[in-house]
Amino acid sequence: MYHISDVKKYTRCARLYINEKHAPKREYQPFIRLDEEVTSLVAQKLHIEDHYFLGHKGDDPSAAKQAMKSAEWLMKARFEYRQLRVKVPFLHQTDKGWDLYFLFIGLYPHADDMQFYCDEVWVLENNHIKIDQIYIIHLNAEYIREEELDPSALFVISDCFYNGKNHPSVKVKDAIYKSKRDLTHVLNEMDQLQEDSVPAANRTNHCTTRQKCRYYDSCFPNEAKEPDDSILTLVASQNKHEMKKEGIALLKDADSERIEGSRQQYAQILADQEGGLHVDRYALKSWLSWIKYPISFLDFEWERFAIPPYKGMRPYDVMPFEYSLHIMQADGTMTHKVYLNIHDDRRDMAKNLVTDIPAQGTVIAYNAVGAEMMRIAEFAQLFPEYAAKLNDINARMEDLQLIFETGTVYDIRMRGQWSLKVIMAMMNDKSYKDLDINQGMEAVFQWRHLDYSDDTADHNKIVEDLKKYCGMDSYAMTVVFQWLKKINEEKMQ
Ligand code: SF4
Repeated sequence: MYHISDVKKYTRCARLYINEKHAPKREYQPFIRLDEEVTSLVAQKLHIEDHYFLGHKGDDPSAAKQAMKSAEWLMKARFEYRQLRVKVPFLHQTDKGWDLYFLFIGLYPHADDMQFYCDEVWVLENNHIKIDQIYIIHLNAEYIREEELDPSALFVISDCFYNGKNHPSVKVKDAIYKSKRDLTHVLNEMDQLQEDSVPAANRTNHCTTRQKCRYYDSCFPNEAKEPDDSILTLVASQNKHEMKKEGIALLKDADSERIEGSRQQYAQILADQEGGLHVDRYALKSWLSWIKYPISFLDFEWERFAIPPYKGMRPYDVMPFEYSLHIMQADGTMTHKVYLNIHDDRRDMAKNLVTDIPAQGTVIAYNAVGAEMMRIAEFAQLFPEYAAKLNDINARMEDLQLIFETGTVYDIRMRGQWSLKVIMAMMNDKSYKDLDINQGMEAVFQWRHLDYSDDTADHNKIVEDLKKYCGMDSYAMTVVFQWLKKINEEKMQ
């Protein structure tokens, strides 16, 4: 039996599909938290109270077919054709046939990834189900939660997809019927795949588009052995593999006609030509001249909820729960403060933040524009009593990541990446450790664990690790900042 996810994987890459089949089952930890039983909330929105059939995992598809004879509504009904099994969110019987409702746990469904919808319709049609209208149910971006969730306002029923500006565009039904394809050929190919033979690795755009494939390193093991200044470390390059095949092995020899010409690419090539480190002296000097003591190095951790769990929150709102602050004085002395709450206490967090951050000096965060500044602006909106001080913090904020993202500084040991972790790996700093919680998302998962239940045996250890983890990132910024000052002084000599 196949699922649509199998077809998706197979059409992306046959090797990926087989690898996934053989991979041990992983515990699924969603990036976005979704605690509620969405089907029952949507059922309230659709006023489904009786005359319905509710499907379950492992149902024989004949159960749904049988239910169609008497039920007005089908929820999570399983259908199958050519061994492809689908779970249909909602079907509603009308005079003209069946209305189909897809469920999109996001704010604006776009018509760019149609495969799921098209394949479901293909299976339904091959089960001789007459589809009349097709709708898509999604979360309402304008909804603000009161004390209780209100499903009628939480969801929107739309017969259109949305465009890039999130305005209604093409009709869902028209878009699906335009993109629908016959899956017979794909399913035949999948049938013929030998379970025990893994197809050869063939590099395509699918290996790195959107997200690097999790099998990339095992498919192309030689890339990890490439030197730091390998042409293959060139970022966002369409032609690097072609250049490599032609014998252009190093960044410094890149063909200027075949690079895209971004600032990062130039910084990479110059770094290799300049012995491993490129520094745009004037840009770095100018940036450092804006930094005023005391410097506050700030790092936030937060959770994102699809469905708002607390009053005043909207779908997909973010809830910060921790910050770490290293304050560096002009004489080099440092103080460290950590704030952590379990559950929602954002008002208290905002209050502590405006007290902990000195009233003068620069505030530095890594990816400040995409993270800390947004969170602080949200706090300012939510808690007007602290808005003036919060807005002042944002006005004094500098983004440390921009130094690397803009190619102001590039060291070939970065191998085309600019995460704080990668940069810290070059610093050889003995105080910076890999902790039990060694990745940002892992910290969120651990906090989630406490948010569900305070009463866990490892409560104190998790709190301690969370504080240490968050502390490591703000500490790392102090080390990187000192390094930037040092290379600035060296380059000026
Ligand atoms: S890295 Fe590329 S070739 Fe390897 S499994 Fe992923 S998509 Fe397929």
